[in-house]
Amino acid sequence: MTMPHIVALRALTDNYIWVIRDHCHAAVVDPGDASPVLDYLQRENLELIAILNTHHHPDHVGGNAALLREFTVPVYGPANESIPTLTHRVKECRDHESEEGNAYLPEFSLTLRVLDIPGHTAGHIAYYGANLLFCGDTLFACGCGRLFEGTAQQMLDSLQKLADLPNETRIYCGHEYTLNNIRFARNVEPGNQALIEREAVVRKLREQNVPTLPSTIAMEKATNPFLRCNEPEIIRSAGSRAGKPLSDPVSVFAAIRDWKDHF
Ligand code: ZN
Ligand code: FE
Repeated sequence: MTMPHIVALRALTDNYIWVIRDHCHAAVVDPGDASPVLDYLQRENLELIAILNTHHHPDHVGGNAALLREFTVPVYGPANESIPTLTHRVKECRDHESEEGNAYLPEFSLTLRVLDIPGHTAGHIAYYGANLLFCGDTLFACGCGRLFEGTAQQMLDSLQKLADLPNETRIYCGHEYTLNNIRFARNVEPGNQALIEREAVVRKLREQNVPTLPSTIAMEKATNPFLRCNEPEIIRSAGSRAGKPLSDPVSVFAAIRDWKDHF
């Protein structure tokens, strides 16, 4: 049994569909469009074995139905969102062995644990296992998702849950937003040297049209302003943006999230 590896497929404008594959099987995370997946499966001569969805937005689930016309496979997704094509509605379970708390991919002997990470949407989930994290539109490289259905408190709690995963965890998120996110982060925390270094690396990757992902938890803790709401420089920036001194991390987070929405 060899460990599966992860491949990025570009989809729509700036989405990534993540493929978990070995030499003959593939599972896909958030197929917003079926055609790049079908092309890839055919080109690589792979059999689809599962679909995993993180949340209900069309750019993450839009390809489910067309894939299901070609392959009969389990479709994992959030128990608390309405996605008609799901066959396995999953959510975070205290008992890690519980069936509804995991996505199990027997072809890879891989179990991915489900984490509830509301904020971008109310039922948003992540899949975590074997040092891999598929987190949709919650934690981005150097950023986080917009608050469409949740509160700042919920999103901050969700981001904290992800930040508590091991440093070496590889982060596979839903979009190529990294360079823009870094531009914003540098306004929030101009004194962060790690951010300056990251911008140079990311700029080179984008010039070569290479994905800037996966990131790691360690990298995000060092550079992502939304995980750094206790840093003095960020507290000060958020305060001047809000026009009043802010002290608690939730108000700091809310102020920089709002700032980013208008950036
Ligand atoms: Zn989304
Ligand atoms: Fe999205």
